[in-house]
Amino acid sequence: MWIGSYIDWNSSKFIQFNFANVHINNSERFINKLLEAKVRMPAILRIDVDTAYQNRILNYARVNKEVFLGIDSLGYLRSCKVIADDLFERGITASFFFLPFTLPSREFVQELMKEGHNVGLHAVHTKEYTDFSADVQTASKSLGKILGFTKHGSGKFKLSRSHDPNYNPDKFIDFARMSNLKFFLGNGENPNEGWQYKDGVLYSPSAFWLNRNYREDNFTVDWLIKASRDRDVVVLMHPEDVTEGTNLMTREYERIMGKVEFMPVLQKIEQTGMK
Ligand SMILES: [Zn+2]
Repeated sequence: MWIGSYIDWNSSKFIQFNFANVHINNSERFINKLLEAKVRMPAILRIDVDTAYQNRILNYARVNKEVFLGIDSLGYLRSCKVIADDLFERGITASFFFLPFTLPSREFVQELMKEGHNVGLHAVHTKEYTDFSADVQTASKSLGKILGFTKHGSGKFKLSRSHDPNYNPDKFIDFARMSNLKFFLGNGENPNEGWQYKDGVLYSPSAFWLNRNYREDNFTVDWLIKASRDRDVVVLMHPEDVTEGTNLMTREYERIMGKVEFMPVLQKIEQTGMK
C-alpha cells in the first residue's frame, strides 16, 4: 500500500513508504524515549492554509457560505502558491494543511508532493467526531490518504456551528486514533514542549508561531535558530502572514528560512520508526 512520499535531499531520491507494518503498543515506550533524546533533527514547517482568495468578499463567500467560485481564474490559493514557489527556490520542504474550503486541485497536490512537501487536513468541524470524520473524507478526495492533521482556531473564537473553539489535545489525539491518522500538530504557544507518542499518534503540543501575537517575547527568531539545532521544533505559519503580513513578519520569515533546516512531518514519523 502506497500512502506517503518525500524527497530525500541527501540522496536526491524520491522515497515512497507505507505504514502497513506499524506495531503500535509494544513500541510506545521506545518511541517516547527516542522523542526525549536530543538528536540532531531538522525543524518542521507547518503551513495552515486558511485563505482561499485574497479578495475579502470572495474569501468570505468561499469560507463562510461554502460557495464554490471556480478555481484558478480568480486567484484561488494564490498566497499558498506564492509560498510554495518561494520554498521551491530555497529547496525547503514543508507540510501544508488545508481546510475543507481551501482544498487544492489534484494537480497542485501532485506538484507539492513532487517538490517533497507533505499535505494534510486543517480541521475546522471539530465539535463532534462525525463532523471531523466528514472533514477527513472531504479532504481525502483532493489530498489522497490523510495521515495527519492540524486544528483551525486556537480557542478564542467559535468559527462555525460545528467548530469546537476549545483546544483539548486528548480529544484530538482520540479523533486521530479513530480515523487511523498518524500525527496531530497542536496549537500550543510554548515551543519548548517536546513531541509525544500516544495511542499510535505522534503529537506535538506546541509550535513556534511566525505571528508574534501567539508568541511570548522570549521566543525570538534567535531562540528558534539555536533551539532548532538540537530539537525538532514545529514552526507554524499561514501563507498570508508573509504575502499580506507586516514587514516584521516578512523579515522574520526570511531569517528563519535562511537559517533553519526543515524536513516534512512524515520524515519525522519515519525517523521515529513508526512506519
Ligand atoms: Zn487555521
